[in-house]
Amino acid sequence: MKPAEILKRLVQLSHELGREDRQLAILGEGNVSADLADRTFYVKASGSQLAAIDAGGFTRVHAKPIFEALDHPNKTDDEVRKVLEACRVDKKAGLPSVETFLHAICLREGGAKWVGHTHPVSVLKILCSKPGAEPFRRHIFPDAIVVCGRHPAVVPYVDPGIRLAVALRKSLRRFMARHGVAPKVILMVNHGPVVLGQTEREVLNVMLMLDKWASILAGNYAAGGPEFLEKKNADRIENRPDEHYRRRAIGGLK
Ligand SMILES: [Zn+2]
Repeated sequence: MKPAEILKRLVQLSHELGREDRQLAILGEGNVSADLADRTFYVKASGSQLAAIDAGGFTRVHAKPIFEALDHPNKTDDEVRKVLEACRVDKKAGLPSVETFLHAICLREGGAKWVGHTHPVSVLKILCSKPGAEPFRRHIFPDAIVVCGRHPAVVPYVDPGIRLAVALRKSLRRFMARHGVAPKVILMVNHGPVVLGQTEREVLNVMLMLDKWASILAGNYAAGGPEFLEKKNADRIENRPDEHYRRRAIGGLK
């Protein structure tokens, strides 16, 4: 896919995620990125609004200086800003989001082609509550397993920016060592979800299903607590061949 087409789809994905009625992100919240397969990627520029963004709201960045900075993450805010300025392919482009570090990790180590991060009201109702991400470690209905994956990765609360990216990388590596695959959903406690997709449609679908899942969970807790699926039933959904087919069809994957 040509960079111009990827940029067009990033704008569309941003508008879908930023839709006011969906309550996934308001104002400058959230960010998206897409890999360009040449060691550069597009990421939302700092301060752009998902709902109203156009192509000028994205910045193309080199991955190399981002990963070099991640090797020495104890940086001052000024030093981080210098890295974000220096990594731009076009030095006149807007400053990339402070979450550029996190996107770089999801695109390279998480094997994603597209990444979306939002602050959904529904998901934060759970993630900012006493149990944090725990309610998402089990399942309550089959389609959440099909679309969002059997297990999410979880990151404890860390100050957004380069330190959060380092914590996310640690969780991602642990998850991949344990499960042998990358997660589709990474839940950052007291912050919000990151979705890793192979297509832009998959990022949107996973985010919408996660939003629905979280809304139902919140209702479950209000109605006496969730009735979780038994582990063997959740594992069965994960491994059914027809569900594999359905998952690929839903994700827009051939
Ligand atoms: Zn955020």
